[in-house]
Amino acid sequence: MTRVYHKCHFCGGEVVEKKITIDYRWGEELIALIENVPTGVCQICGEQYLKAEIVKEMERLARSPENSKRLIQVPLHELAIA
Ligand SMILES: [Zn+2]
Repeated sequence: MTRVYHKCHFCGGEVVEKKITIDYRWGEELIALIENVPTGVCQICGEQYLKAEIVKEMERLARSPENSKRLIQVPLHELAIA
């Protein structure tokens, strides 16, 4: 399936679809990592564009953590430079 992306809203660059890993958040809280997400990425500034149907599917996945591939733990750091 080919999804069509408009030129970048910010810089006018070409937006090309790539499969990337998205950190799915609800407000500030990290809910899930989702791999293999088709995302439009601006070739110039790197801005990312997600289609509505992709966001919907990510929401569906994030709501069923019991069906996830695996649970991971990552270290949380705070950068102490002002
Ligand atoms: Zn751009």
